[in-house]
Amino acid sequence: MKPLTLRTKLTLFYSITVSVLLTGFALMYYRVLSVGLDQALTQELMDRTSGLRGYLRFEEGQPIFTYDATDPDEVSFINSATRYYQVYEIRNGTLLAESDELRALGVEYSAEDLTRYIQEPPSLIDLQTDQGKLRLRNEAVAAEGEVYLLVVGTSLQPMEETLTSFIKALAWLIPSGVLLAAFASWFMAGKALQPVAALGKAAGEIAVSSLDRRLPVRGTNDELDQLAAQFNGTLARLEKAVEEMKHFTASISHELRTPLAVLRGEAEIALMQANSTEQYQRVLGSQLEEFEKLTRMINQLLILARAESGDVAIANEPVNISSMTQSLAEQLEPVAASKDVSISCNCDPEVILRGDAAWVERIILNLVDNAIKFTPPGGHVQIKVSRVDGDAILDLADDGIGIAPEAVPHIFERFYRADPSRSNRAEGAGLGLSLVKWAVDQHRGSIQVQSSLGRGTRFIVRLPLLS
Ligand code: ADP
Repeated sequence: MKPLTLRTKLTLFYSITVSVLLTGFALMYYRVLSVGLDQALTQELMDRTSGLRGYLRFEEGQPIFTYDATDPDEVSFINSATRYYQVYEIRNGTLLAESDELRALGVEYSAEDLTRYIQEPPSLIDLQTDQGKLRLRNEAVAAEGEVYLLVVGTSLQPMEETLTSFIKALAWLIPSGVLLAAFASWFMAGKALQPVAALGKAAGEIAVSSLDRRLPVRGTNDELDQLAAQFNGTLARLEKAVEEMKHFTASISHELRTPLAVLRGEAEIALMQANSTEQYQRVLGSQLEEFEKLTRMINQLLILARAESGDVAIANEPVNISSMTQSLAEQLEPVAASKDVSISCNCDPEVILRGDAAWVERIILNLVDNAIKFTPPGGHVQIKVSRVDGDAILDLADDGIGIAPEAVPHIFERFYRADPSRSNRAEGAGLGLSLVKWAVDQHRGSIQVQSSLGRGTRFIVRLPLLS
C-alpha cells in the first residue's frame, strides 16, 4: 500500500480528533439535557398533583374539584392538571372518575395495583401508550373516612420530541463539523508544508559543485526557518570540508610531483652523462635520500589519515614525560650538534601523565625536531618539563628564525609551511604539527605558540597529569 503523505496524515489526525471531541461533547450535552428535562417534568408533575389534591373534595363518595371559576389562573391550572387524571376508591377498587384522555388510552389500575400503590409511598409510573409515553403520579387522599388514590399524569412526548430534534440536529452538525475541520486541516497542512516542499526542492538541487548555495531563510524564525538555518550550517561545514579535501588533494599531488620530478631528472642526467661507477653511486645515493623523504611523508600522511578516520586507539597509561623528554633530548643532541645548535633540558623529576607513550613521544620529537630544523647554527633550544595545576607542561623555546604573525594561525594545518623559501623546503612536508595538534587534542590537552620573526619560537604544551 502506498504510504500516506504527511498532509493526509495530519488531516486524518485532526479530523478524527475533532469528531471524537464533537461526539463526546454531544453525548455529554445530550445526557445533561435529558436528565434536566426529565427532572423538570417530574417536578412539574409532582407540583401539579399536590396542587390538584388541594382542590379535590368528596361529596357522598364522589370526587369533585372545587375552585374559583372566575379566576383564570385557577381555571387554567385545573384544565391542564385534569387532562390526565383518575380517582380510585381503594376499599372496593372502583374507578370513581377519570379524564377523557386517560379513558381513551384505556389506562386502568387493577385491584392489586391499587393495594400496592397505597402500601408503597407515592410513586411515579412510566407507561407506553398508543400516543407515546405517559408518566403517572399516585397520591393517597383520605376523606370522609375513606382512602382514595389520586392519579395525575403528563405526557412525555414533548420531552422526547425535543431530544429527538436535538439528535437530528447533531446528526448533521457533527459530520459537517468534521468535514469543515478536514477541509481546514487539509488547507492548513498544505500551507504549513509548502515551505518544507520548497526546502526539499532547494536541498535536492544542491550538488558537490554547488555547495556554496544556501536555502532561503524567510526571517519568520519559526521551526522551518530554524531547519533551513541548520541545514545551511551543515552546508557551510560541508563546503569547508570539501574545500579542505580539494586543497589536501592538490597539496599531496604537488608534494609528490616535486620529488618525483627531481628523481626523474637525476635519473635522466645520470643515463645521459654518468659513465663511471662513482658517478652512478652519487646519483643513487642522492635518490635514496629523496626516497627516504618520500617514505617519511607518506608514513606521516598515513598516520594522519588513520588518526583522523578514528582508527587509532589512544592508550590510557601512565607516561613519565620527564624521563622521556630527557632521553629524547639526549638522542637528538648529536643531530643538533651537527647543525651547531645546542640543546638544554630542564625537567622536573617524575612528572607523570595519563596517555599514550608513543604519541607523547611523537609530540616531543616533532617539536624538538622543528626547533633544531628552524634554528640557524649557533642557536639554542631550551626544553622544560614542569607540573602546573594538575597539568604537565612541556615548554620548548628556540632562538631560531621565528614565524610571521600572519602564519601562526595556520601552522597546524596539513601541508602548511610558514615560508617554504625560508624554511628548508626539502626537509618537511608541513605535516608534523598537524600530528602534534591531533595528539594533544586526543589527550585533552592544549598547545600554545609564541613566536617572533627572527627571534625565536616557543611552544607550550599542557597535558593532564595522572590523577
Ligand atoms: P614541517 O614538516 O615543515 O616542519 P610542521 O607541520 O612541523 O611541518 O610545521 C609547519 C610550519 O611551521 C613549518 O614549515 C615552519 O614554517 C613552522 N614552524 C614549526 N616549528 C617552527 C619553529 N620552531 N620555528 C620556526 N618555524 C616553525
